[in-house]
Amino acid sequence: MKITVIGCGVVGACIAYELSTLKNVEITVIEGRSQPGMGCSSAALGVCMGVISHKIQGRSWQLRAESLRRYDTLLEEFREFSPPLANVGLNRCGIVQLCEVDGNWERWQVLQEKRQHQGYQLDLWSLTEVHSKFPDLNYGSFQGAVYSPRDRQINPLRLIQSLVTISQHRGVHFRFNTSLATFNGDEKQPIRTIQLQGLHGKESLDTDYLILTAGIGNNAITPCPTLPAHGLSTTNHHQVHPQFEPVLGQAWQVLLPAKLWSGSMDNQGFHPVLTGQGLHFIPIATPSPTYWVGATVEFPSGWDPLDPTPSQAVAKELWQQAVELCPPLTQATIERHWWGIRPRPINQSAPVLQWSNTIENMLWATGHYRNGVFLAPGTALWVKEQLLQRL
Ligand SMILES: Cc1cc2nc3c(=O)[nH]c(=O)nc-3n(C[C@H](O)[C@H](O)[C@H](O)COP(=O)(O)OP(=O)(O)OC[C@H]3O[C@@H](n4cnc5c(N)ncnc54)[C@H](O)[C@@H]3O)c2cc1C
Repeated sequence: MKITVIGCGVVGACIAYELSTLKNVEITVIEGRSQPGMGCSSAALGVCMGVISHKIQGRSWQLRAESLRRYDTLLEEFREFSPPLANVGLNRCGIVQLCEVDGNWERWQVLQEKRQHQGYQLDLWSLTEVHSKFPDLNYGSFQGAVYSPRDRQINPLRLIQSLVTISQHRGVHFRFNTSLATFNGDEKQPIRTIQLQGLHGKESLDTDYLILTAGIGNNAITPCPTLPAHGLSTTNHHQVHPQFEPVLGQAWQVLLPAKLWSGSMDNQGFHPVLTGQGLHFIPIATPSPTYWVGATVEFPSGWDPLDPTPSQAVAKELWQQAVELCPPLTQATIERHWWGIRPRPINQSAPVLQWSNTIENMLWATGHYRNGVFLAPGTALWVKEQLLQRL
């Protein structure tokens, strides 16, 4: 049985890893770029907002709960394979989310109760409490914070590298610098062969199942002649294949004059992710107070989806917002500035996890928009389950 995965971002890599345990299956991952994780995943901040998200039921919550659980066992498996591979920059200190004055405190109280029933802890901190822990922030518009000790943050590129290394060891073939060009398949004929374009020209590859995880690249693989522009995405537009809207995100790595967290728990290495007004401040494990700050959410207008040059104006706006919230940023040294394009499904919720409507052996596992790193492990389990039902 031959299974081909298109795309080696965090989602493709996780799927390859999960499928690599199946017996009598040949898995090939096709990636257009020269290395894994160089698409949107290279830009991700790796924040995993599960317990602290407002999703409490249905597929959205199940995928989150599954991913939360799977992250723990996944890292255990990495450690067993080779301890250095478990070093994926995991921050286990949780997430502190600042709550606006008009941010519906009661809603957080309801969520806290709900999570308690589900077996998760959420702490509500008063303004005095949060101020004593993060003294350097500007609390003008906040009334307190929610702390979720169970949520996580991970370094996406290190995670992908570990997934690929172990999968390769288990026999998965990775073909870099190789793109899926075309495939034949329709309602009557499943796909049997796909056409690839590599550095040395075209070639064919036989496959029994095709799994699409190409992020924003999916649009080129299965073009839709009447792709609606942004703003029409709520119309009941008929789509043969799912389509994805590109949403740009920019982020920065900065060196601050001092740590943001002041608590004595620092001695025990307590350094949670701080989130407020849609902005993350993510401590990076270095001897100096280094943080990732981001990310912008920029819908396509004023930039070319095929050649995105980030908008300076939006970047400036976000930076000003960040400085207002965290005044020490005025003295920050910017060490790195980067961006990526998130794949946001049009006319359906993220992510797209479904068998193709028209091609019986093609599976979509893509379009994770703002949560691909977090949801990749749950997605990979879902894919494995789908294939097991058919193999
Ligand atoms: C600034 C920023 C911050 C973010 N922060 C977070 C966060 O904190 N937490 C979180 O969970 N998510 C975050 N995200 C979102 C996350 O990055 C995405 O949801 C995730 O990376 C999607 O992964 P993917 O594997 O589907 O896509 P990608 O990483 O884009 O991978 C798709 C791969 O397919 C390849 N490809 C495309 N077309 C073809 C083809 N025809 N043939 C072969 N290969 C092809 C591409 O080269 C690419 O490597 C962030 C995104 C941005 C931009």
